[in-house]
Amino acid sequence: MKTIGLLGGMSWESTQIYYRLLNESVKARLGGLHSAKLVLYSVDFGEIERLQHQGDWAGTADILVRAAQSLEAAGADFLLIGTNTMHKVAPEIAEGIGIPLLHLADATAMALKSDGISRVGLLGTRFTMEQAFYRERLEQVGIEVLIPDDTQRETIHRIIYQELCQGRVEPASRQQYLDIVDALAARGAQGVILGCTEIGMLIAQADTSIPLYDTTEIHCLQAIEHALQS
Ligand code: GLU
Repeated sequence: MKTIGLLGGMSWESTQIYYRLLNESVKARLGGLHSAKLVLYSVDFGEIERLQHQGDWAGTADILVRAAQSLEAAGADFLLIGTNTMHKVAPEIAEGIGIPLLHLADATAMALKSDGISRVGLLGTRFTMEQAFYRERLEQVGIEVLIPDDTQRETIHRIIYQELCQGRVEPASRQQYLDIVDALAARGAQGVILGCTEIGMLIAQADTSIPLYDTTEIHCLQAIEHALQS
């Protein structure tokens, strides 16, 4: 089994989900007492969030490249960045290490493709929804990406930072998210990407008939596939 390097803490609320899902997946595949081999570098999200909102992406890259190098030095065979948003600096991180990066948008694109989805809605931080770095990886493989309108994007972004990343799960926010999922489906989305690693804390497939693609789950499943390949 390969050793996974997990760049986490963005936020730690979703990193604990990664840790559980990675271990559960290995247990499901290998049984008994088997568990995932992994090293975790968990950053201070307060620092990262401040730099994000200042637009200082180079500053975030400095922190994350050093963290990724520590994971490589600690024995990681490949890297996961446990946040969609920080794939903004995935090229810099990949450049700074000698181990492969399992890109979250590519993993998601693969899951959509295998379900035959060609038009999808995207929920995430404003950075993920509005900038090209994430969407373009999906568009490159022929998937059309629909994003919520400006007011909806503001709501989604606020709930991520002010509630989910701080461990708060509010029923009223769940309803707001589900309304936005419905609106995307009404515009023709065949499925909706939960493109922020905390959104699975708030909404789940049981809440809607529209297919949801939870990026945290997709990333963990593909990571375990990769870790168990000989
Ligand atoms: N975990 C989130 C994501 O997947 C948001 C936190 C962050 O900005 O990294 O985008």
